[in-house]
Amino acid sequence: LRRNPGESEFHQAVQEVLSSLGPVVDRQPHYLAERVIERLCEPERQIIFRVPWTDDHGQVQINRGFRVEYSSVLGPYKGGLRFHPSVLLGTVKFLGFEQIFKNALTGLPIGGGKGGADFDPKGRSDGEIMRFCQSLMTELYRHLGEYTDVPAGDVGVGTREIGYLFGQYKRITNRYEAGVLTGKGIAWGGAQARTEATGYGTVYFADEMAKHVGSSLQGLDVVVSGSGNVAIYAIQKVQQLGGRVVACSDSSGYVVDEDGIDLELLQDVKEVRRARIATYAEERGGKSRFVRDGSVWEVPCQVALPCATQNELDEDAARTLVEHGVQVVAEGANMPCTPGAVHVFTDRGVLFGPGKAANAGGVATSALEMQQNAARDSWSFEHTEERLGEIMRSIHGRCVDTAEDYGRPGDYVFGANAAGFIQVADAMLALGVV
Ligand code: NDP
Repeated sequence: LRRNPGESEFHQAVQEVLSSLGPVVDRQPHYLAERVIERLCEPERQIIFRVPWTDDHGQVQINRGFRVEYSSVLGPYKGGLRFHPSVLLGTVKFLGFEQIFKNALTGLPIGGGKGGADFDPKGRSDGEIMRFCQSLMTELYRHLGEYTDVPAGDVGVGTREIGYLFGQYKRITNRYEAGVLTGKGIAWGGAQARTEATGYGTVYFADEMAKHVGSSLQGLDVVVSGSGNVAIYAIQKVQQLGGRVVACSDSSGYVVDEDGIDLELLQDVKEVRRARIATYAEERGGKSRFVRDGSVWEVPCQVALPCATQNELDEDAARTLVEHGVQVVAEGANMPCTPGAVHVFTDRGVLFGPGKAANAGGVATSALEMQQNAARDSWSFEHTEERLGEIMRSIHGRCVDTAEDYGRPGDYVFGANAAGFIQVADAMLALGVV
């Protein structure tokens, strides 16, 4: 705490992983002797830089950019860039720390990193977004490379922003190094199914959890928070698997739709028009309504998929969900459930899939994008989605097997933390004092 003052999200993420590791270090005390945990609490490299840019009124604006290159023992640093006014160093460190173990769970050769800026893209013109991205990359490019550090998108960073970032990287380096960024457009080196991958993967994971206890998502009511990239494709996959999504949200409130969310309208409102969620209810009519400032977790459901942001689902919300009969919770976002909420779910026998396992489909598909770039190849949507499905089943299997091996069947939090940690720790030891 003294070494990292004020980084409460980072403390929370570290605490969450460390609280699982007691049985692991009891069985393998050399992790303690070799000080693996202390080493993991310190990122390999942290970069903080000024991002100056000019807005549409000719005013100079200043933001702060970050890249935390956390761990490269399994492969190049890999993790997204977040553009949001709430981004602080502690936010990026928490996300980078989580990313190390998540990436390990995918079984693919990728290390952990994360980055972003305290830039608010809301209400900014296309030209402003482009100039901001160009300025950010003018500093960041020197730290990147397909064998070094490969950023992707996250909150506030989608294909448009990756395009501007990639364009600037290409200009500065005079290299068409497609593998330096993932989340690219299909026409210029992107992978099919990457846009869908995190949301789809979360739902595959939730379905695997349900199947493991002899059930499935078919016919269940589902609440999804957010209406961004992860949320929209989670909704799509739930519908494809026969579930009914009854509510979703954005930071202004939530919509309830008893007929089930109309995905086409939602995509038009959020992806095309970039409007607020209230517009959905206004245009949908019927049994849909908008609730301003409420919590989406008040809506009864059997499956809850938090897909918006960190700490969005607290202990009270968890209790409400349990009272309404929730059976499965899978985290599409990073650390959306507070420690108190996780405690309520696990205590009350709700199947709980932590983000580092449940939302790993996005980064896994990014690693598949890197494979395609390296091979100058491009795979079909069906093939990529099939690989995604296999990877999510494999992550689920690793969590289940590790939890059982340590006598904690059904404990996905323990299974994910222990399996990810053991792989990273063993690689650290094999590589010497790194
Ligand atoms: P987007 O920016 O596309 O969407 C975020 C959504 O969450 C928006 O609808 C936003 O609403 C909403 N939101 C933000 N804050 C709140 C809040 N306090 N209450 C309710 N809604 C809120 O981001 P992504 O979908 O890409 O990311 C969502 C989460 O998933 C993040 O935690 C991210 O780190 C994680 N993740 C994303 C991956 C990816 O591939 N994209 C991969 C793995 C994890 P508004 O528009 O009003 O701000």
